[in-house]
Amino acid sequence: MDKVAIIFDEIFIKHKAGEWHPESPLRLEAILRRLADEDLRNLIDYHRPERASKEEILWNHTEELYDLVASTQGKPYFSLDPDTATNEYSFESAMYAVGAQKTALKLLLEEGYNFVFALVRPPGHHAERDRAMGFCLFNNVALAGYYAKNLYRMKRILIVDFDLHHGNGTQNSFYEDPEVLFFSSHQYPYYPGTGNYTEIGRGLGRGFTINVPLRSYSRDEDFIFFYSKLLKPIAFQYKPEIVLVSAGFDSLKGDPLGSLQLSFEGLAVIVKILKEIADYSSQGKILFTLEGGYNLKNLAEGVATVIKTLLFPDQVKIPEDFTPSEYSVSLFHKIADILNFKNYWEV
Ligand SMILES: [Zn+2]
Repeated sequence: MDKVAIIFDEIFIKHKAGEWHPESPLRLEAILRRLADEDLRNLIDYHRPERASKEEILWNHTEELYDLVASTQGKPYFSLDPDTATNEYSFESAMYAVGAQKTALKLLLEEGYNFVFALVRPPGHHAERDRAMGFCLFNNVALAGYYAKNLYRMKRILIVDFDLHHGNGTQNSFYEDPEVLFFSSHQYPYYPGTGNYTEIGRGLGRGFTINVPLRSYSRDEDFIFFYSKLLKPIAFQYKPEIVLVSAGFDSLKGDPLGSLQLSFEGLAVIVKILKEIADYSSQGKILFTLEGGYNLKNLAEGVATVIKTLLFPDQVKIPEDFTPSEYSVSLFHKIADILNFKNYWEV
């Protein structure tokens, strides 16, 4: 039977951004407790991450940002941005969070795993080339894209970001790059302010960024609509060689930082669609990397839902009939128009 490889190291628990910060070590502790439960513990293999090298970080970040984050080593507190701070362990934690992406690709592409979940902190998708922001120091998933490009010579990499917030850093890393197709669904307008549907890439990368700016209180039907009618057909045309997922569980109903209303059932449908894409074009290879999620119960059960859906997809039905909101239907047409009009994808 397939198992899910979890990549984890104690260093990810040591990073703290301040006493009352929502992105706290309690998040990983809640997930690990859930994964130790009877129904999951025999379905998982644990692996330790490698440490990224400076050279690898510089594939996606400026040396100035690297040096700044490295300079926080050993300091109990350093503020990088109004909501992004470090302690003495944060730099090491960030280096291993990136290195976990390298380990993950090795497990997927050389060691026979189909499913890897990198349980890392700090998260990554807001980190820009030259700037740490939004609780993120280095951009883990963007660097997973660079590992796929530079170590495995991949030319078609799909990154799907279902975190409640727009993955601005990831988008900007590949905005002019057709070798990475970036698809993000997120609450909009909201932090960090980017991610309107009109942002579709630039130059050779035009048509390879797809944004789904969901209205507050969007429900399962809205998510399923965009994942099954927009992402899936485009991904089947793109035929990615690997599927990378920025897995943020703040999209689930009841998150203290947002107001999307995704349920665990809806999340399972999204994961099943992602698995279908991977089965279709990337030999089933799919990597989930932890981003946000600040309701601890949701976070732990969200990760459990991902694992169960990957291993038992037949238990999840993708509904044929669903009623997205009028807003979502109109948004879909706007996205379809802008993509079809430019002759990028048939949707
Ligand atoms: Zn988030």
